Amino acid sequence: MSQNQPWPLREATSLLAHIEALESKGLRTKDDPVLFETGYGPSGLPHIGTFAEVARTTFIRRAFRSLTDRPTRLIAFSDDMDGLRKVPLNIPNPETVEPHLGKPLSSIPDPFGVDDSYSGHMNRRLREFLDQFGFEYDFRSSTDMYTSGVFNESLSLLLGKVDDVLGIILPTLRPNSREGWSPFMPVCPDCGRNLSTSVTGYHSERDALSFACDGGREGKVAHCGASGELSVLDGNVKVGWKVDWALRWFTFGIHYEMYGKDLIESAQLSARIVRALGGVPPVGLFYEMFLDEDGKKISKSIGKGISVDGWQEYAPVESLSAFLYQNPRKAKRLTWDTIPNFTDQYLKQLADWETQDDEGRLWNPSYFYFDQGAARPSWKVAVNYSLVRNLVVCMGKDDPDVVTGYLQRYDARVTDDEHGALTRQLVRGAIAYDRDFEAGSRTKEAPASELRPAILELADKLEKAEADGQRDTDALQSLAFDSARANDIEPRTLFQALYRGLIGQNRGPRFGGFMLALGLSEAAAALRALAKS
Ligand SMILES: [Zn+2]
Repeated sequence: MSQNQPWPLREATSLLAHIEALESKGLRTKDDPVLFETGYGPSGLPHIGTFAEVARTTFIRRAFRSLTDRPTRLIAFSDDMDGLRKVPLNIPNPETVEPHLGKPLSSIPDPFGVDDSYSGHMNRRLREFLDQFGFEYDFRSSTDMYTSGVFNESLSLLLGKVDDVLGIILPTLRPNSREGWSPFMPVCPDCGRNLSTSVTGYHSERDALSFACDGGREGKVAHCGASGELSVLDGNVKVGWKVDWALRWFTFGIHYEMYGKDLIESAQLSARIVRALGGVPPVGLFYEMFLDEDGKKISKSIGKGISVDGWQEYAPVESLSAFLYQNPRKAKRLTWDTIPNFTDQYLKQLADWETQDDEGRLWNPSYFYFDQGAARPSWKVAVNYSLVRNLVVCMGKDDPDVVTGYLQRYDARVTDDEHGALTRQLVRGAIAYDRDFEAGSRTKEAPASELRPAILELADKLEKAEADGQRDTDALQSLAFDSARANDIEPRTLFQALYRGLIGQNRGPRFGGFMLALGLSEAAAALRALAKS
């Protein structure tokens, strides 16, 4: 396989090798589902990092399906038994959460006052978020897995191998953090906290441990002083982060999971724990973090800056997929000004699709944005987002129907059944983008006086072309060259003056087509107004 092949296919190829190796050792059969996993921390609402991880994992899943008909599943796992360490800044009614610090998220009331718990709310919002984009996944709640006993067998095994686990984790901790560290986090039966407890003894012969509710290792978490013995089964105890990751990999038999660069060490330790338990860790890829406008990392747990909803105000969500399709091993700036470029890339991918065969389509990034066989938009018109935005800026129009009317002159098919829905998204998005990011930043400039005769002459030629029924964009383009030469002006100088005057930029869309989209009479009127400005 070529190094240059699309990265989702490269990942899928190495996953398939992993799967075949397991099958050759008799550790699975071809009919068992191949399991992908993504993780979600429900202390906050789902955000663009959540979307990115699920979308990229789904790209690989689709690539995998192109290689084999083995069944696949994606488990979206919510860490809702994690204790809450501090009250997030962006939730309502923080005072209702404050008294519950140190408890599992699933034991804290919903600050929004809607669902049965804090994580119940976040989990619901996660599912709604993922459903909105049509992702196919199986949701798993950590609390449900612990309390229903799904993890029991693994927890018992883990308790029996606690020395092995300590041997893996302790050397990675700072010496002063090793004392009293335990992979287990008992839930205090009296006060309900699991960040406040310490483990004081292991009794693997009866699947139990001794605990003290003493404020945790640093003694800083609110605690009640209870102590005693607890079964490690049925949700009385959870395990700490790296061990927790290993526990679910091992219990479910996860085959593929990707993770941010900040979790490389965690993933390595989790893999060692899975092996210590007698399992085989998943394969996966670590991805570079996204950077915000200031070049700071956007972490998966803190949703700052650009949101998926925000992106969708300006462009179809598949243009965000086009952004995410870029090499995950390179850090990317995720900022508002990336939207136009990736929207045009997406449209080009859709247009290319129309002329590609099956082999070619596998190299088309949009292959990975949609399920095979699912409806996908087609784009056969020579209209892109830049053109729409330039029309909006040039004509100063904010009525979608008016802008769509211009596009129809350019290509009547933009509103037909095939293109209409995407055209509407582009027009609405371009108007919003102009309103929010460009109004004020693009300043139209009056042309130098020596250029005005050429501009007036071009206006006359466009008027005449309209009367002659001229629709050929090359012919219209050459009218501008003719007008420049007839007035001893460099064509480049004339084009620059026109773009500065019409759209407030030094460069713009191809001139002939742009004039056609404006409508030749209207374009002529705009040029005359420009020459007099
Ligand atoms: Zn307690």
